[in-house]
Amino acid sequence: MKYKVVLVPGDGIGPEVAAAACDILKAANAPIEWVQALAGVAALEAGEKELLPASTIAAIREHRVALKGPCTTPVGGGFSSVNVAMRKTLDLYGAVRPVRSLAGVKTRFENVDLVVVRENTEGLYAGIENEITQGVVTSVKVATRQACLRIADFAFRYAVHRNRKKVSVFHKANIMKLSDGMFIRCAREVHDAKYQQIVYEELIIDAACMRLVQDPTRFDVLLMENLYGDVISDLCAGLVGGLGVVPGANLGENCAIFEAVHGSAPDIAGKGIANPLAITMSAVMMLNYIAEMHGDAAVAATATRIRGAYDRALQEGCRTRDLGGELSTRQFADAVIARLG
Ligand code: ATP
Repeated sequence: MKYKVVLVPGDGIGPEVAAAACDILKAANAPIEWVQALAGVAALEAGEKELLPASTIAAIREHRVALKGPCTTPVGGGFSSVNVAMRKTLDLYGAVRPVRSLAGVKTRFENVDLVVVRENTEGLYAGIENEITQGVVTSVKVATRQACLRIADFAFRYAVHRNRKKVSVFHKANIMKLSDGMFIRCAREVHDAKYQQIVYEELIIDAACMRLVQDPTRFDVLLMENLYGDVISDLCAGLVGGLGVVPGANLGENCAIFEAVHGSAPDIAGKGIANPLAITMSAVMMLNYIAEMHGDAAVAATATRIRGAYDRALQEGCRTRDLGGELSTRQFADAVIARLG
């Protein structure tokens, strides 16, 4: 029995790191059958008319699980983000980014173990911008009570399910009284109604950033709106070794896309030096999701084996350049495969 999973390699370093992750899963005998699909510049280059082909969305709807590499988003012009479009089209409203210290990756702090939960469909990230008149633009920050309640419930449910103790909401409700004000009121409401066993706190985001870099070990689950989640995810990645080591999941009611927090990193694309760990960790999250969905303990065991293998590889000094090592993408993948046991 194999589970069909849509594979979207993406742009830039996407295909390189996705191939490495697939090789690791194959070597671990993960029962996955990949369904290839395209998105991003890669889709246009393959002759598709759209950055996000309808066939890709249809495949993810059909198979319900996807592993995805990053898609390039141009800065300050050009087309809008394919990553954002995918999340919105499939209503993948909850992003989960676990951030943990890794033995063998030396950073300022040890024992960081937190999870960023990001609302994935609204906020300034909705990308609603207008040039009212020449030289004057507005960006609309969208917040709906329904989406605020939904992501709050998601975060608390996640906390309970994963045996986490505390949810910290980051906000700027002192300035954005209506939008962020509603976000924290909804979080409070959900907490008080259903999750009083979880410790709950609210922090203004600027002070929260200071606390994060002073002592990230005091945090557990972080809950925030879309743009804050984007920024804080990268900040947290920096606490544990960088963008090469933080995985992510975009979850909705009907399907899920697993992807690294990092982007397409055009500066190192094609050189074979990108760290494949973040997408491999995302694939491990994906295996655990499939294991839970189907009650398949063997798949969960495969996920644990892969995690053990990359943890051991790091402990034994196998590192790509972003972590101060010298291994190529391929060599790191081989080092993980050699330790699958
Ligand atoms: P986006 O806006 O598309 O999310 P970003 O601003 O997060 O992109 P990235 O494309 O992730 O930016 O890259 C930032 C830098 O981090 C890159 O220039 C690259 O040097 C480094 N980087 C990102 N991912 C990796 C990786 N997997 N391995 C090694 N270095 C990486």
